[in-house]
Amino acid sequence: MAASGHATQKEGSLMADEQIYDVMILGSGPAGGTAAIYTSRAGLKTALVTGPVPGGQLTGTSEIENFPGFPQGLKGPQFGELLEQQARRFGTEFIFDIITAVDLSVRPFVLRAEEAAYRCRALIVCTGSSPRRLGLAAEREFTGRGVSYCATCDGRFFEGKTVAVAGGGDSAAEDASYLARLAGKVYVIHRRGELRAHAAMQKKVQENPKIEFLWHSVIEDLKGDERGLRRIVVRDVRDGAVKEVPTDGLFVAIGHTPNAGLFKDSLELDAQGYIVTDRLTRTKVPGVFAAGDVADPHFRQAITAAGTGCAAGMEATRYLEAEGE
Ligand code: NAP
Repeated sequence: MAASGHATQKEGSLMADEQIYDVMILGSGPAGGTAAIYTSRAGLKTALVTGPVPGGQLTGTSEIENFPGFPQGLKGPQFGELLEQQARRFGTEFIFDIITAVDLSVRPFVLRAEEAAYRCRALIVCTGSSPRRLGLAAEREFTGRGVSYCATCDGRFFEGKTVAVAGGGDSAAEDASYLARLAGKVYVIHRRGELRAHAAMQKKVQENPKIEFLWHSVIEDLKGDERGLRRIVVRDVRDGAVKEVPTDGLFVAIGHTPNAGLFKDSLELDAQGYIVTDRLTRTKVPGVFAAGDVADPHFRQAITAAGTGCAAGMEATRYLEAEGE
């Protein structure tokens, strides 16, 4: 096991009393929280840097109904708090800070925030991804009040109602298909005249009688009242005609942006900017692991993020054990 503790002269320009963590985890969603539970429970000196959204993306989810083990469901923010409590119980230190630069070419690794620097022997990146937003002024106003970025999370709140999906990729098609099982009617609003989704998925949604396509259409505005979203203002890009579509919900499925910009020069990223790992969550830099949505363009679920967070925690522990031999 790598010894934790104080820096020595050999390790460079550290302050005499500066601490080195065995493991630092970036991100406080289900991947980061789970990784922290595993490494701190294994006796490693662990610090978790929460990042700009303590609790991660799930804090924007009203209710999580599909995390196994919680038959009554639980609120997004509550889930973050429970993870934090559990990780703290085993000694994880929570640091409410935002890392702005990393140096993975030195050992221990150096992570810099605006007013502090941190050092660690192993790093687990769990910075998640952010759903792309339409960029409308009203979008934030209705987020959680009709506007959602996760059909699997929030679809059930629209049983029998009318909803719309924005986008034309696999996510939009999958969301439309999923929502059609619950909602009474689903509009797909897409800016072009053809879907980007794969052929089988296209066929499936286009044959679904509950799904209606608004092609060549962009969303210009959202309107509602105290109960939430009520209408979407849609413009046809071909002739400029504007109409209002009555709807109770809007699911924005125009892609995600992985929060991996910090690592663009030090880790391998794929064409979409996700961190590339092997199946053991290892990146190309020994001692650096990535878990959750920042390395997963596909599933993006709390339970899969927690699963890879667990794997990264175990692999980081093994790495440090091997290093200490
Ligand atoms: P995506 O493939 O990038 O599609 C994004 C869609 O949103 C596109 O149709 C795009 O329109 C539209 N769009 C982007 N920005 C927009 C804006 N500002 N306003 C309006 N529309 C906008 O993203 P994704 O569907 O999330 O898929 C991401 C990756 O995951 C893909 O590789 C996909 O194949 C994969 N995925 C696979 C599955 C599956 O196999 N089951 C499920 C989900 C995702 P344009 O078409 O005009 O560019």
